[in-house]
Amino acid sequence: MRLVFLGPPGGGKGTQAEILAEKRQLPAISTGQILREAAQSEILGPVVRRTIDEGNLVPDNLMIRIVEDRLRRPDCRRGFILDGFPRTVAQADELGRLLDRMGLKLDGVILLKVEEEQLVKRLAERRVCSRCGATYHLTSRPPERPGLCDRCGGALKQRDDDREEVVRERFRTYREKTLPLVDYYAARGLLHPIDGDQPIDQVARAIEEALAHLDGPSQAPDGHQGPSPREAAAGQG
Ligand code: AMP
Repeated sequence: MRLVFLGPPGGGKGTQAEILAEKRQLPAISTGQILREAAQSEILGPVVRRTIDEGNLVPDNLMIRIVEDRLRRPDCRRGFILDGFPRTVAQADELGRLLDRMGLKLDGVILLKVEEEQLVKRLAERRVCSRCGATYHLTSRPPERPGLCDRCGGALKQRDDDREEVVRERFRTYREKTLPLVDYYAARGLLHPIDGDQPIDQVARAIEEALAHLDGPSQAPDGHQGPSPREAAAGQG
């Protein structure tokens, strides 16, 4: 299964992508996490860090190279969940071309819908593991031991770009650059809008329900599959 998770910053993409990835044994690929790691490097680091800290987007050509490199790794053969990519129409076009070259198709796009004020509140309480990147929330998803990651024991910290003024800038960027992807994927019959303003397990259930029609015998382990009935009906197979 090949999926994209779309939605505003702090809308729960990362959390839900991780939950689904674990259930389906698929890699969840967070471009934000890849970039935060790249921000530590000497060459790309300063530019990437500044872009993230200002709430802007990293240039499309760099992003598509990063994603192509990642999708060609063997663990993506059975499928993948993209969290935070594409974020612009140019990235979506490039992703479509890349998948065409690989003989693959996207199965669906999950859109998590959450209002801006709710996001600012959520991100103020978000914490991430400084070692493995796992995400927590002080109220809705607290770690078992305060300040420490359940998965690897790393120290939890607040992301610099989760400060309110940066969050508002990220939301502006989302509205301007990423929101057009809602129509883009709806027009291709791939969009599944989900109310993201619910408890985590209810959102996870809604996602499973939206994806139920994709579970079928058509997923071959070599990554090639015929068109789903929906794609065939829409003439997209
Ligand atoms: P995220 O963890 O998905 O909220 O991403 C954190 C930051 O990384 C974003 O605010 C952007 O600056 C950058 N970023 C992540 N994914 C992309 C992308 N697909 N295109 C451009 N910039 C991105």
